[in-house]
Amino acid sequence: MNYYFHVPFCRSKCGYCAFYSLPEPSPELIDSYLDRLERTFFPEAPAETIYIGGGTPTFLSAPQLERLLKLIHERLAPPAGTEISCEANPETLDREKVALLRRHITRISLGVQSFHPIVRRNIGRKCSDEALDRALELIGDADFPHWNMDLIFALPGQTPEAFFTDAQWAIEAGADHLSCYALTAEENAALELPEDDDLAAEMMPGIARFMEEQGFSRYEVSNFARPGAECRHNCNVWRGGLLAGVGPGACGFDGTDRWRNPLLEPWLRGEAPERDAISPAARLNEIFAVNLRTAAGWTEALWRQVPKADAWSARRAIFRAAAASFDPSWFRISDERLALTGKGMMFWNSVAGEIIAHGT
Ligand code: SF4
Repeated sequence: MNYYFHVPFCRSKCGYCAFYSLPEPSPELIDSYLDRLERTFFPEAPAETIYIGGGTPTFLSAPQLERLLKLIHERLAPPAGTEISCEANPETLDREKVALLRRHITRISLGVQSFHPIVRRNIGRKCSDEALDRALELIGDADFPHWNMDLIFALPGQTPEAFFTDAQWAIEAGADHLSCYALTAEENAALELPEDDDLAAEMMPGIARFMEEQGFSRYEVSNFARPGAECRHNCNVWRGGLLAGVGPGACGFDGTDRWRNPLLEPWLRGEAPERDAISPAARLNEIFAVNLRTAAGWTEALWRQVPKADAWSARRAIFRAAAASFDPSWFRISDERLALTGKGMMFWNSVAGEIIAHGT
């Protein structure tokens, strides 16, 4: 089982954010969240991977963060070698929290977005240069087994060179994984952004080449890693692995249904998750489409691991049918593997839409 813990609290709301998170929560509210987790989280399946995300898990005070990390370790007892990731924001880290994380997790994911203060200000990201430098120093000194940084590109007026500087600094600081997201205009976000998918599509091939030169492979549409540093949790989930979402707003997949926990207040009252009732065929198509975001795509062996998977020949037929609607150079089709090319990954949304349409 892959466990995802959602910590729905942040210091402030970033202008571009559409994630479920509550800004400036009181310490008492966070304590109520931890109290309920302690009362109700009794997992039945062993952990294959664990991911603590948000929100900002490191917004919790050091004693609160320790409660959360200890709870996870006591209840799941993850064996050595289990990937345990935690998201962190620079402005919420200090030496005590970094030391706590280093004792309990194997992979830290730092939300940097940009090393350029003007860019951070323009996107409503409240983080000073001093806080960022301090966080990089603390994480570098702690020497985590794996370190991701989130970076944003395709901002209006941003040149490829400005983004390359961000990536270079992240790599020099010690990151072995970079998540590079084009900033998109999200419906629920406070900041109004111009849609510029063309700029993202223009920049990505250059970014992919640049990252290859630095020894990072583009293993998913937005993710680059040194060999062996890919995020196992995300890879498992993209391939339809079982997911237990823990905490308000967290999602899960039990092999048949997807479900979503209620938001904080109803979650604290113990209300049940919402179940997503879609047909088994549609579910398989959705899983099939999602893992096409990865460079490796599907092999027959991987597909057989999907709960209730249909025949490989059926998957090949669906992929060929979708490919017929688009440029053939977007697709890699062989008996052994079904995948998108680097160019095809740029148009994943369109291909996924076509594949999902086959299941309805
Ligand atoms: S982007 Fe991250 S830090 Fe900013 S409000 Fe959203 S969840 Fe919180």
